[in-house]
Amino acid sequence: LAYCKSLPKAELHAHLNGSVSVRAIEKLIELRKRSEPDYKADDRVLSTAKAQDKIRTLADAFLMFPLIQALTQTSEAVTLATVEVISEFNDDNVKYLELRTTPRENTVTSMSKVDYIEAVLAGIATCSERLPIIVRLLLSIDRRQEVADASETVDLAIKFAKSKDARVVGVELSGDPKFDGRKFLPLFQKAREHGLKITLHLAESCDWMEELSEMLALPPDRIGHGTLLHNDPVHAAVIRENSIPLEICLTSNFICQTTKTFKDSHLDFWFSRKQPVCLCTDDQGVFDTYLSKEFEIASETFNLTKQDLFDTSLCGLRCGFAPKEELYAIERIWAQFAKEHA
Ligand code: 5GP
Repeated sequence: LAYCKSLPKAELHAHLNGSVSVRAIEKLIELRKRSEPDYKADDRVLSTAKAQDKIRTLADAFLMFPLIQALTQTSEAVTLATVEVISEFNDDNVKYLELRTTPRENTVTSMSKVDYIEAVLAGIATCSERLPIIVRLLLSIDRRQEVADASETVDLAIKFAKSKDARVVGVELSGDPKFDGRKFLPLFQKAREHGLKITLHLAESCDWMEELSEMLALPPDRIGHGTLLHNDPVHAAVIRENSIPLEICLTSNFICQTTKTFKDSHLDFWFSRKQPVCLCTDDQGVFDTYLSKEFEIASETFNLTKQDLFDTSLCGLRCGFAPKEELYAIERIWAQFAKEHA
């Protein structure tokens, strides 16, 4: 684990609200109590028990997200959550982080989607001033959303990507895989025409496999999970021909039992075919993990050498959505590490 900790890392698949740790949740509750002294949070978000005790399926994980989102309903809380999450990735020696989140409005607190995005960007700006970590943002479309709602998110992503600090670099599709994502395809096309990158959660469980051919035809710039994609030779061929990187989250897949054991993970299939893969945490708060641990699990499960781990980490950075020249500049950190560990 010491080597995995010391390795500079890039995290490309981290949902903001799912990444909030129990420690950060305690701070969010404190904040909420300032305006609502009798506020009582749901016990499940405060439990330090192993995630495996609370979550056994993807559906169980989906019960956790609203409990955390209930604590990020004001701009102040969203900024606090963002700062806490980035700080924890920084503590784990993550040098490049792509956070993703679903902009939400809240009529009770009068938080608009724009307020939400600005609050996340404020948290990123605060961390950028004081921590050695580069953070970029992807805006999420939730599969359960109406097209009009998702369309608003894409328009905001386009607007923010063109703004001065340009930290929004892409859009992504996530949310309950039971819902068909095809209705959002024109929105992803539009996002691409405006220079945004696209990553789609695909085939993470057996729901909605019918959508796959059309979703892959986009083609996305990366794929979230893609747990079951390699089972179909036609889909696997599309991924290989387009060299689409996969964001693989070992603990998340294991806890939700979309892969029965770590050894069953699709990581092995893609590794052996030299496909670009990025090890990621998905929801490090909800799944009680961190990126070094994911590297450690990969190393133990698939007998990876230090060089393999280094290459995988660097591959993660190279799959990032920030402009290539920015990624090249960050690569110096990896070069320095290689020199020191030669
Ligand atoms: P947020 O977007 O509120 O910052 O993060 C939580 C949201 O991310 C969830 O409501 C869900 O839409 C999405 N999400 C988090 N983890 C997963 C996952 O493993 N699979 C899918 N499909 N969506 C997820």
